[in-house]
Amino acid sequence: MSEILITKRERDCLLAINENSKSDFPIRLSDLANILEIKPPTALNIVKRLSELGLVRNERGMIRPTEKGVVYYKEIIYHHRVLECILKNSGVDEVKSCVEARSLIINFLTNWLKKWKNTQATLGSVLMVSRLKSRRR
Ligand SMILES: [Zn+2]
Repeated sequence: MSEILITKRERDCLLAINENSKSDFPIRLSDLANILEIKPPTALNIVKRLSELGLVRNERGMIRPTEKGVVYYKEIIYHHRVLECILKNSGVDEVKSCVEARSLIINFLTNWLKKWKNTQATLGSVLMVSRLKSRRR
């Protein structure tokens, strides 16, 4: 059986799609490429990979997150904050906490994708996120 893995680039792409599209206003592939500062064919490859994972939908160059993609996005934000907090509380400065949390989270994301079916555990975190959402990213 093949492993499900998400790279940092794919994660950044998923964040950009979630943050720059609304259900009635999907993001265009060219705009996504601009935001990520990559070429459109590279962006397309990442989008293809994310849609294979069921996280985004690409309809003729208009990209939006799927329901799974939105939950996953919230998980990313939530776990980023948790890690960041732990690091800050252990005396790591704010900027470094953020950077470290970004790199640590990749392992977590991979496991999350494997456990997607286990929605019970996920829902608790989503509720936490909506409370944290009003705060700083
Ligand atoms: Zn941060």
